[in-house]
Amino acid sequence: MKSSMLSGKTALVTGSTSGIGLGIARSLAGQGANIVFNGFGDARQIETLYTDIGREFAVQTAYHNADMSKPAEIAAMMQFADEKFGGVDVLVNNAGIQHVANIEDFPVEKWDAILAINLTSAFHTTRLALPGMKQKNWGRIVNLASVHGLVGSAQKSAYVAAKHGLVGFTKVTALETAHTGITCNAICPGWVLTPLVQQQVDDRAARDGLSNDAAKKALLAEKQPSGEFVTPEELGALAVFFCSPAGDQVRGVAWNMDGGWTAQ
Ligand code: NAD
Repeated sequence: MKSSMLSGKTALVTGSTSGIGLGIARSLAGQGANIVFNGFGDARQIETLYTDIGREFAVQTAYHNADMSKPAEIAAMMQFADEKFGGVDVLVNNAGIQHVANIEDFPVEKWDAILAINLTSAFHTTRLALPGMKQKNWGRIVNLASVHGLVGSAQKSAYVAAKHGLVGFTKVTALETAHTGITCNAICPGWVLTPLVQQQVDDRAARDGLSNDAAKKALLAEKQPSGEFVTPEELGALAVFFCSPAGDQVRGVAWNMDGGWTAQ
């Protein structure tokens, strides 16, 4: 759907070459926002992706390959957005990785990487975006947390710690901007069928000798009462709502979209 609600504004979505970030970037482009893409992948495929979305929605798009575990690269990306578009109006902190293991077996470097990418990167992008947003007295910060920002699951210590941290960081950002036109909120999805989750489906299929379909059903049945995956498009629509005038006083929420996972 095309609209002009965000025309003239620029959204930077971290980790937007795949999955949820890509879905949210598309939804914001559909509202007329220029988009700065970020994330890993094949350089030519990424170029096609951002060129096609720019053309489809008649917006300007650009890409920066910052590694979100590296503060200097994050700073370079924010400067790139400033130079290219005059700053970031909508910041979506979405880049994330997962690793599944018991605490005593959890690789130390995986712990550090998950905390850096899923949590600390949001501190860096936010601290660098806020001065420009304050000057314009308008901004939207949307942090992709997870149901794991609200409840725990075994074998996901680093992820659950990072996502609970991100929900806490969201609340503090919302409080520090409460009497400005800047809002900050978190989205807490349940299972969404992206490469990050397909990996867990594949592991389960291999472990339990299941087909891909049966492994998906088993994964959903364990946690998500709807038995349905959440989609990147649904999450994009929620991000668009946060960016709308109706979202002006939605501040510091951790909004679950989880097929009933956390209602249990
Ligand atoms: P995904 O693997 O499809 O996409 C992750 C994106 O992050 C990719 O673009 C990837 O290139 C990028 N990325 C990874 N490491 C990076 C780094 N060091 N620097 C820059 N970019 C990097 O995953 P997804 O499922 O779309 O997840 C997106 C976000 O949503 C994550 O924060 C994830 O924790 C969260 N989330 C996902 C689910 C789910 O079920 N898929 C549920 C809840 C929350």
